[in-house]
Amino acid sequence: DTPTVMTPTTSHLTIEAVTKRFGSFTALDGISLTINEGEFVCFLGPSGCGKTTLLRTIAGLAQQTAGTLIQRGEDISSLPPQARDFGIVFQSYALFPNLTVFNNVAYGLRNRRVERSHIHARVNELLALVNLTGSEKKYPAALSGGQQQRVALARALATEPGLLLLDEPLSALDARVRGHLRSQIKALQARLGVTTIMVTHDQEEALTMADRIVVMNHGVIEQVGTPAEIYHQPASAFVASFIGSMNFLEVTAQGDNQALLGTTSCACLSHTLKVGQAAQLAIRPETVALSRQAGALNGEVIGIEFLGPFQRVTLRLTDADQTLIADVPSRDSTDLCLYQGQVLGIHLPAEAARLYPAG
Ligand code: ATP
Repeated sequence: DTPTVMTPTTSHLTIEAVTKRFGSFTALDGISLTINEGEFVCFLGPSGCGKTTLLRTIAGLAQQTAGTLIQRGEDISSLPPQARDFGIVFQSYALFPNLTVFNNVAYGLRNRRVERSHIHARVNELLALVNLTGSEKKYPAALSGGQQQRVALARALATEPGLLLLDEPLSALDARVRGHLRSQIKALQARLGVTTIMVTHDQEEALTMADRIVVMNHGVIEQVGTPAEIYHQPASAFVASFIGSMNFLEVTAQGDNQALLGTTSCACLSHTLKVGQAAQLAIRPETVALSRQAGALNGEVIGIEFLGPFQRVTLRLTDADQTLIADVPSRDSTDLCLYQGQVLGIHLPAEAARLYPAG
């Protein structure tokens, strides 16, 4: 027998019970998390959830009130930023305006007294990496936002840090540049294999770039998972509502993965809910199936929106005073011959329906 060779995942950074208080306000409430070597992790959450505070704590730019940070086996909890091993890129580029592109990128290397010829070779290599060869002598003011952010990225990577920290690096850019830079950063990170943490409030950014997403709310972690896990198996109603489109229907839990919607019994995946407990059934619009045949659950079409790849159909349930959205592929919809006032059968696939306690 050939033994199975497993690639060991080694921890790059271990965050243990980190709490951060500002006066009586708790911005981080006992955060524990392990980030593996080479991983691209996104901290995702609404404004004020604590994601920037957590990133700043990892960098040593903020001091945790309690808890421990271990990087590659070393306790870095009380080290000042300059003694920690990271490169950082901020939303606002934060380039030195009076230095050329070359000198901005060379800055960290000069601080470390790297030899001149090495600096030259390294800066040229980095500028090639971010597609800015030829811009060495320009000043930041002569560059576009996207170009400035690529210089900031090259500068952050210059000293070959073990950890790359990105604080909303794309949010100041316009949509087209943002999309382009998103794939550039992702490709660069994969090529260099540098462990990366990016803070973002943009779910699409997190879903497309991250190996794992850490969803935060009110200073705690709601869920850690791959983009597919976060999307298909949201651990809480908060995660379900924060990522993608979601229907929430008021139901009554019936035990054994059943819920009562009006008078209709629906199968679903449920957490431990008591029979008779008020609950919400979450189901994504693209998983709802409509049919011209009446079923156990039916609804009247009260809205149809054409959105290109699909049509978004709003239905009012016949059996309960609630509305439901179904996304139907626009090419298939001819079978349904959709029109306002039409009554359609609704099928909620059990494996796509999840039950959470009522909010
Ligand atoms: P945003 O996307 O708006 O930056 P965030 O999730 O990054 O949100 P943080 O910046 O980490 O949130 O802030 C978390 C909470 O801590 C917020 O309520 C904020 O007001 C508070 N906070 C952050 N820094 C300080 C500070 N220096 N003094 C007092 N409160 C602070």
